This record gives sequence, structure tokens and C-alpha cells, in this order.
Amino acid sequence: MMERHFSLKNYNSFGIEVETEFFAAISNEAELIEVLKSNGNKPFRVLGGGSNVLLTEDYKGLTLVMQNKGISILEETASHVLIEVQAGENWHELVLWALENDFGGIENLALIPGSVGAAPIQNIGAYGVELSSVFHRCKALDLESLSFNEFDKAACEFGYRSSVFKTHLKGKVIITRVQFKLSKKTHQTHTQYGALQASLQGKEMSIQNIAASVIAIRKSKLPDPAQIGNSGSFFKNPVIPVNQFKQLQENYPEIPHYPDTAEKIKIPAGWLIEKLGYKGKRFGDAGVHEKQALVLVNYGNAKGVELLNLAQQIQEQVLQNFGVQLEVEVNIF
Ligand SMILES: Cc1cc2nc3c(=O)[nH]c(=O)nc-3n(C[C@H](O)[C@H](O)[C@H](O)COP(=O)(O)OP(=O)(O)OC[C@H]3O[C@@H](n4cnc5c(N)ncnc54)[C@H](O)[C@@H]3O)c2cc1C
Repeated sequence: MMERHFSLKNYNSFGIEVETEFFAAISNEAELIEVLKSNGNKPFRVLGGGSNVLLTEDYKGLTLVMQNKGISILEETASHVLIEVQAGENWHELVLWALENDFGGIENLALIPGSVGAAPIQNIGAYGVELSSVFHRCKALDLESLSFNEFDKAACEFGYRSSVFKTHLKGKVIITRVQFKLSKKTHQTHTQYGALQASLQGKEMSIQNIAASVIAIRKSKLPDPAQIGNSGSFFKNPVIPVNQFKQLQENYPEIPHYPDTAEKIKIPAGWLIEKLGYKGKRFGDAGVHEKQALVLVNYGNAKGVELLNLAQQIQEQVLQNFGVQLEVEVNIF
């Protein structure tokens, strides 16, 4: 059903109060096409759980929220299972379902907020695992022709917090279903990440224990959007050429870093921001989280533009002081 002049405060994890002129929750593919047809040429956009967006202004158009539900098993062998999940399913609930069934591959991605349909958009990742490692294919509606296309893994052009849906197909398709290939019985686990390894010490290496550790670590480090509005990491971790990194390291020998490719080094954006003294800083209701400088927070009634201004100020300071351009991970509307 189409709503008018609808508040999106409960539909974005920053908890920003903005209004959309029209609003429709979508429960199946036929309804999606029907709503888009009736919308004609008016502007529209899509949201899942609203946990990777910063809404900066009222929207004069239609906001669609994907709420189609369902998980089905398409194929099963002794070692793997192929599942198809509707875009409106909650990501963490899918992880819990997989754990109950002892299907492996997404346990490290436990407690990431948001919908299944948005998960391929930025190739969600955490604790050494990215969605691309279990992704099989997805179905998406082409918004020009209103016909469905299928995308296999290669077509998605997955990268670090990126995919074709965040680059040249941005705003051109709506993902309606995603297929994942998960493991059965013999699971390949990824526990090299420091904090995860420490938390698993002395425990059985099951996917259930890995997920439990990931959940405990995340709860101790990241603010719960139900309590303090946020969109997780606001910036991507910069990946810089080795030469540039060496120069930085001369001035800051303690700078943490991880090899990316042979010529590039990844450095934690949170470290750069913290070094500039922003951790825990508050400007009105907009601020930088006290435990994780990569997370911007809304303490109550911050406006989207206030958070955007803070983000821009941080980008400028990081560029001036370290010569590093921080790229925003969150989608700005
Ligand atoms: C506390 C917290 C922790 C987080 N931790 C992580 C983390 O560890 N790793 C990580 O990768 N991310 C993390 N995130 C970010 C976020 O959870 C993911 O990006 C998630 O996939 C967003 O899903 P969503 O449904 O909320 O997307 P939304 O915020 O609703 O949308 C994100 C973008 O995708 C588009 N979109 C949404 N659904 C569709 C669709 N069906 N088809 C086409 N386009 C669509 C939207 O237009 C928008 O541009 C975190 C966020 C929070 C709040």
C-alpha cells in the first residue's frame, strides 16, 4: 500500500527524521513491478534495512522498502547446499537460520544489520570473510525495461565494499533474490583475525562458536543502532601505494597496516581519525563514537547534513595531515 508524507525515522539506522513524499513496502516481485508502473516517471529509490545510508533531506519521490520474505533450498549435495533468499529477509536472521541447520560460510558475518538484498551491493564483509565467498547468483529488476536479469559472481564485479551495483549499475537495478552456496559438515573456517582468535581460545572450532564470538566482539565494540543511531563504518579503510605508506610510516612508525596487493597497503581509517583526536568528540547531537572512530553517531536529533558536515571535516583533516583521501562507505541520499 502506498503511503503519503511518510517519516523515515524508523527506516534508517542513523534514526534521522526525514520525510518521503510517497512510501511503499514491497512484499513480492509482482508488487514491485506494479508499484513502479503506477509511479510513472516520478523519482524513486530503494531501501532495505536503511543501515548503510545517511538521509540528508526530505525526498520528493517514492521510497520503496524491500520486505519480500522466504528462504528455500534449491539443491543439496553431501558437501554443499544452494539456497535462495528473498531480498527483504534480515541478514542476521539468515545467519542464525544457517547456524541452526549447520550450514557454513556466513558465520563471520553474524550481526551485520540490514537486508539480504543489500548484502551484495557493498559485498558486506567482516572478520576476514566477504559475502562474495558464498555468493552464487542474484536476480534483479532492470529499472529501465522492468524485466528481470540474473547476475552470476563474475558479473557482480565484487571488490572491497564494492560491486557493480555500487558502481556503474548504481540506481539501475533492484535486487529481489540472492542465491548462496553454503558448506555442510566440513566447514572452511576463517579465524585468523586477532580478536576472533583470542576469543575462540580453548573452544571447539564450530561455526556456532565462531558466530557467538563474532557477536560478542561486535557487541563490545560497535554501538547498537537501537540505542545510538549509526550506520556502522562511515568510511572505507584506505588502500594506498606502498611508497606513500612508507613515507607515512616514517612520521608514524606505529601506524597499523595490512598488505592488500603487492603494490598496495590497507590502513585502518579509524586509526587516522583517532590520531586527529576525533574519537568520542561530539558536535551537538552528531559525533564520533567513543569506542570506534570509524563510526559516526546520532545522539538524538542530529540532522543528516550535520553528520555529513562532520564527515567532510574529518575527510579534510585526514587529507591535510596524512595526505590520504578517505572514501565514504555509507550511501548519501
Ligand atoms: C552497527 C552497524 C554495523 C555494521 N557492520 C558492517 C560490517 O561489519 N560489514 C559491512 O560490510 N557492513 C556493515 N554495516 C553496514 C550495513 O549493515 C550493510 O551495508 C548492509 O548490507 C546494509 O543493508 P541494508 O538493507 O540496511 O541497506 P540500506 O542501507 O537500506 O541500503 C544500502 C544501499 O543499497 C541500496 N539497496 C538496498 N536494497 C537494495 C536492493 N534490494 N536492490 C538494490 N539496491 C538496494 C540502497 O539504495 C542503498 O544505496 C554495518 C551497519 C551498522 C549500522
